[in-house]
Amino acid sequence: MNKIRFIKLFTYRGMRIKMHWSLTLIVILGLLGGLLDISVPVGTLSFLLVLFIHELGHVWFAARFGLKTLKIELYPFDGRCYHQSPDTPYPNYVIPWGGVVAQVIVAIPCIAIHYFYSDGMRWRFELPLIFLGYVNLFIAFINLTPLKFLDGDKCWQLLPLYISFRFRRNKAKKSEQKHRHHRTVSHK
Ligand SMILES: [Zn+2]
Repeated sequence: MNKIRFIKLFTYRGMRIKMHWSLTLIVILGLLGGLLDISVPVGTLSFLLVLFIHELGHVWFAARFGLKTLKIELYPFDGRCYHQSPDTPYPNYVIPWGGVVAQVIVAIPCIAIHYFYSDGMRWRFELPLIFLGYVNLFIAFINLTPLKFLDGDKCWQLLPLYISFRFRRNKAKKSEQKHRHHRTVSHK
């Protein structure tokens, strides 16, 4: 029973993309909703894309630290990205920003296109822009709330960590300069 909790969608370069059974059920119902109105599956798939874009942002930031993502799990309202563990704790506070950054990168052009070209646009074409634009941006902001179960928890911890990192680096630089001053080299 435990094995069918997730449905494997596909594998890309060793990265397994899985969907929780509850989300699979929602997607199937959403696709079936197409028998009534095409905007139901369009809306469902657009929302699924928002979740996936967020996780891809984590994959992107993890890759910047040379960390390979092993799997992505998608749930009805969030997801989880499992990547290799870094040697220092610093990336663990930068990678959470990846999800939000990816969402904002997608949301801004979608909002712009919707703002300028939505007049007379058919609802089925407008809906993905609304989901990938406004809904996407709204979720990104909610996700930045500093709560334990959201990315915001780790995202905002980066700030004091970065300040202390800069402080320690400046201190190390000063001490290096001081020592360099005492070391002498002579030339004939
Ligand atoms: Zn996230």
